[in-house]
Formats: sequence, structure tokens, C-alpha cells
Amino acid sequence: MILDQEGLSKHAAAVIEAAHQFAQTHLVPNAAPWGRGLFDRQALFEPAGSCGLLGLQVPREWGGSDLSFGDKVRVLQKLARIDFSAAMALVNSHNVAVQLVKSSPHVLTPLYADDLIRGRMVACTALTEPNAGSDLGQIQTTAIRHGDGWLLNGSKTWIINAAHADGVVVYAQTLAGAGVKGIAAFFVRADSPGFERVAVSTSSALSSMGIGGFRLTNVYCDASHLLYEPGKAFADIMGAINLARTYVAAMCCAMVSQALADVRVYGQKRTAFGQSLDQFQGWRWQVAQAATALQAGELMVSEACDLIDQGGEAQTAAAQAKLYATSMAQTQLGSLLHAMGAEGFLDDYAFLRHLTAAHAASLADGSTAMLLERVAQDFRFKPGAS
Ligand SMILES: Cc1cc2nc3c(=O)[nH]c(=O)nc-3n(C[C@H](O)[C@H](O)[C@H](O)COP(=O)(O)OP(=O)(O)OC[C@H]3O[C@@H](n4cnc5c(N)ncnc54)[C@H](O)[C@@H]3O)c2cc1C
Repeated sequence: MILDQEGLSKHAAAVIEAAHQFAQTHLVPNAAPWGRGLFDRQALFEPAGSCGLLGLQVPREWGGSDLSFGDKVRVLQKLARIDFSAAMALVNSHNVAVQLVKSSPHVLTPLYADDLIRGRMVACTALTEPNAGSDLGQIQTTAIRHGDGWLLNGSKTWIINAAHADGVVVYAQTLAGAGVKGIAAFFVRADSPGFERVAVSTSSALSSMGIGGFRLTNVYCDASHLLYEPGKAFADIMGAINLARTYVAAMCCAMVSQALADVRVYGQKRTAFGQSLDQFQGWRWQVAQAATALQAGELMVSEACDLIDQGGEAQTAAAQAKLYATSMAQTQLGSLLHAMGAEGFLDDYAFLRHLTAAHAASLADGSTAMLLERVAQDFRFKPGAS
């Protein structure tokens, strides 16, 4: 394989460049109107599919790019610099295509993978319920055997893309009291009888994420649409969440990187008290703090990406990268917004959209408390240990 200076294959470099072009031509003009609540699914998914952004880690035999995890992260960073929410919407649908190829190559992949990769179909992953967020073992959605298939009942909420998804991966309890061991995963079509969407009204800064919920009333799911049996579903989703924590961290770094670039340009041209802002030491120090924090976040992300691509144990590295990068973005985006003065509130910039996204990022794919608990487990007191 021919690699360029950064170690990228020609194909990976082309997909990353396509992501950059897509961000400039589709996200830059749309992000502000979407951020006012005017999100349009047509303007996001099919154009992204045409640019190859919905097949990043799908194997080539199914029409994808089979990128490494690190290269997928580089693509997502290009998108998140402009619109974190749109990037999350795309990657969540993409991840379902990857999951179908992995768990059902002969039945569900031929049915749905092509439409997902082209953006003609949108999918999402539904764990969270009105009464169960961090505590996933407590989910109340049930799946009961019914003939050759299953009957699903329950509610999900706070699901990316659920406002308009065509297919949903539903995590449901198959055995009361079994906790995570009883949870199975099903691919449910949104046009199934008994599937009803429930709107979730969020801050419009998140509107391109398509957050929504749904209610399932005796929704029949054919046995062929069981993705993971009880006992396997939870282990699979925990593995996927480690990957998600890493790319969410990377996307938080991308938002701060974009903000830094905007601040640098503005600091050279805006004058006060007879000189440009970047001539004031106090102003420069704020920017230097942000740049230093960003560098630390990027190093943590890079370490987690390398571990994932090498097949190593990435749980702690992913948790620490997300812990650090989300809190770094929450702090530094506020500080960089301040460095812009009133100008930072203009629609031309993404500071406010990114700030909201950084706060949302600290909950999605494992809240800060859950990540701290994960890291703390590495320091558990072991009886007898010195
Ligand atoms: C933008 C966004 C996108 C999302 N997308 C999806 C999606 O696509 N699919 C999906 O299934 N879910 C999704 N979620 C839901 C997300 O996974 C949950 O928000 C998350 O698991 C936390 O659950 P909760 O919001 O119910 O908070 P809770 O679990 O009710 O927690 C509330 C607060 O208490 C803290 N807390 C909880 N337990 C403890 C503890 N033991 N010790 C100390 N503090 C604790 C939490 O950190 C949090 O700060 C999304 C959420 C957001 C904000």
C-alpha cells in the first residue's frame, strides 16, 4: 500500500479530503439554519452517502471504504469542526451498517446495507429509556418470544436520528430480573405496526442530530431481525461504546481546533486601544491555554485510536480521552467565545453551537460519572495488595 507523509493510504486520504469538501459545501451553508431548528434530512444523508461518508468502516465488498478507526476519526473531525450534531447523526447511521455486516452478513446486510451507505435509509441505536439512562441494566423495554419471532414493548428516548430514522437497533430485556445478561438487540423497521415516534424537543443547536424517541406496542420482530442474542448484545454494545467515546473525544478536539483558528484570525484584525487584540499579553494567554489543552486532548485521542487500531485494550484510554476532551471543550469553547467579544455570537461562527454540543457530548455514550467510575476501577483497592 502506498502511504503519504502522514502515513495515510491514498484511499483514506481521498475520503478525508471528500469529508473536508462535504463540510465546506454542505455543512457550512446549512449548519446555522439547522441550528435555528430548520433541519432537513434530505440535505444531509444522501449527499453524505454520495461522498462516501456513510461507508467509512463498512467492508469494500459491501460498497464501503474499510478505513482504519484512526482514519474514520479524521473524517469525523472534518465534519465536527463545522457541525458536531450532523457528524453524530451520520456516524450513528453508519455504525448500524457496520453492525449489520458484522452480525447478519447473509440476511440483514443484503436487505439494508446499500441503502444505509447511500443515505437513502437512516438508522439509529436505542438503549436509553425515559426511566433508564446511565443504569442500562434497568431498561424496561421487553422482548417476549412469539411464534418464530419476538414481540417488543416499551419506550426509548434521547436517541440520535430517531426523529426520522427508518430502522432502529432496539435493546430489550428478554428475561425479567436478568439484568444486562438478558438484554438482546433487534433491528426494527420504523414502518412496523405498533411503532410510534415520540418527539423530544431539544435545544435547536442539536437539531441536526435528529434526537427523538419512540414507543413500541406489540411490535413484531421476525427472528431474522434479531441482531444479538441475550448475553451477546450487551458485550457488543459496550465494545462499540468504547469506540464512540474515542471519536466523540476527537470531535470535541475538532470543535476547539476550529474555534482556535477563528480566534487567531480575529485577534489579528480586531483592534482596541490602538493595537490588535493579539498584541495584548492577557488576550494571548487565554488562546495559549486553549491551544495547550487542545494538544493534550489530541494526544489522548491519538493514543486511544492507536490502541483500537492495534486491537489493544482501549477501555480506559477511551474513557480518559472522552473525560478530558469533553471537559476541555466545555471550558475552552467558553473561553475562546469570550476572546472574540460580541462577534463570537454571530451566526457566521460556531462557538455557541459547539458549546452546546460539548455539553451534550459529556452525556452521550457514557456520562462523565460513568467514565470516572470506569477509570476508578483501574485503581481499585485489592485486598492483600501492597
Ligand atoms: C445529545 C445526546 C445524544 C444521545 N444519543 C443517544 C443515542 O443515540 N442512543 C441512546 O440510547 N442514548 C442516547 N443518549 C442518552 C445518553 O446515553 C444518556 O443521556 C446517558 O446515558 C445518561 O443518562 P441520563 O441522561 O438518563 O442521565 P442519568 O442516568 O439520569 O444521570 C443524571 C446525572 O447523574 C449522574 N449519575 C448517574 N449515575 C451516577 C452515579 N452512579 N454516580 C454519580 N453520578 C451519577 C450522570 O452522570 C448525570 O450527570 C443521548 C444523550 C444526549 C444528551
